[in-house]
Amino acid sequence: MPAPDIVDDLAEWQMIVKFDWVVSRAWNTLHHVQLSDGQWAQWEPGDWLTGPVRLSCGRTAAGICVPGVITRMGAPRCTGCCRAVGYPPGKGSPKNSADCRAILGLPESGLGIGSATLN
Ligand SMILES: [Zn+2]
Repeated sequence: MPAPDIVDDLAEWQMIVKFDWVVSRAWNTLHHVQLSDGQWAQWEPGDWLTGPVRLSCGRTAAGICVPGVITRMGAPRCTGCCRAVGYPPGKGSPKNSADCRAILGLPESGLGIGSATLN
């Protein structure tokens, strides 16, 4: 099930995707994506974006979505995507990893992203 965090604002949705990453339909790995303006315009926040979608590791996904919190906490980050965008490999969304939070410029502790609330 896709994340229930429904947002209306594109900038907020883009920030969630940047901090949480996405899963393909295989649903087992968190990937990084860089989307075109056209893809962002097509993507209904909280729903699937139907592909093909090029992931930062070079794979192509038939569709992507931001997964629910259990996956965001526990799924491994794709090593290819980590290498491509300069994050350490590990488990969980970058937002939930202390090492990645430093790279993102987020405070060390807590799951929030500052003024934006994802709950
Ligand atoms: Zn990947």
